[in-house]
Amino acid sequence: MLITDSRDKLRQFQLSYRLIFAGAVVAAFLFIANILLTTSFVRSQVSTLEMNKLRSENAFLANKFEELKGRVSKISDIYGELVEKEIVIRNIFNLPEISLDERQLGIGGPENPPSDISNTVLLASSTESRVEGMLRLARFEKEKYEEVYNALSDKKSLLDHTPSILPTRGYFSRGFGMKVDPFTGNQQFHSGVDIANRTGTPVYASADGAVQFAGFSAGGLGNLIEIDHGYGYISRYGHLSKIKVVSGQNVTRGTLIGYIGSTGYSTGPHLHYEVMKNDRQVNPMDFIVDFR
Ligand SMILES: [Zn+2]
Repeated sequence: MLITDSRDKLRQFQLSYRLIFAGAVVAAFLFIANILLTTSFVRSQVSTLEMNKLRSENAFLANKFEELKGRVSKISDIYGELVEKEIVIRNIFNLPEISLDERQLGIGGPENPPSDISNTVLLASSTESRVEGMLRLARFEKEKYEEVYNALSDKKSLLDHTPSILPTRGYFSRGFGMKVDPFTGNQQFHSGVDIANRTGTPVYASADGAVQFAGFSAGGLGNLIEIDHGYGYISRYGHLSKIKVVSGQNVTRGTLIGYIGSTGYSTGPHLHYEVMKNDRQVNPMDFIVDFR
C-alpha cells in the first residue's frame, strides 16, 4: 500500500509538472506572438503615416516646381527684351553685331535624365537645367552689355575730343582751301577758316584737350594757341589779341582761351581757326555740328 501510494504521488507530481511546463510554453509563445503582432501593426501604421506625409510633400514640391517653371519662363521673356535692346543699341552706334551662333552658346544642350524616374524628379531636373541655362545666358548678356558700355565710353571720349563747335562768333571772311590772298592778290592755300569780329570777342576751345602751344608765333599767325585733342586732332587759333591759357593746361569744349585780335600777318581783327587730323590740315567746317 505504501509503495503504490508513493508511486501514485510521484506520477501525480510528474503529471502536474508536465502541465505547468506546457502551460508556460504556451504562455511564452502567446506572449512573443503578441509582441510580434503589435510591433508589426505599429510599424505598418507608422509607415502609412510616413507615406501620407511623403505623398503630400511630393505634391507640394511638384507644385512648387511647376511655379518655378513659370517664373523661369518670365525671366526668359525679360531676358529676350534685354537682348533686343542690346541689338538696337548696337545698331544705333554701329557696333559689331553678335552672331546668332554666339548667342546660342549660352543656352547649352538638352540633358537626358534616366527614363525610370518620377514626373516630379523629371520636372525638378528640367527646371534646374533651365535655371542653369538662364544663368549662363545672363552672364553672357552681362558681358555683352559691358562691351557696349566700353565701346560707347570710347565713342563719347572721341566725340568730346573732336573739334566740333565754332570757337567764336562772327562773319566768315575766308574759307578753307585755295583762296585769294588779301595781301598778294594771288591764289594761295588757306589752311583754316577766318571768322571776323571785333577785337576782344571771346574765343573758346572747340573740344577737350591739352594746350600744347600758347604764345607768339613767328609764322604769321601772331598770338597763337594750339590744342592737342588726342585721337590725331589738333586745333589752332591765330591772330589773338589776348591769350587766356598756358601751355600744358587742360581745357574742355567751351573753355574761354583768348580774344579775337589782329596780331601777326592780318588785315583786320579776325580769328584764324585751323583743324589738323593726323598731321594734315582739314576743313574745320566738316567737323562743326553746332552752328550756334
Ligand atoms: Zn586765316
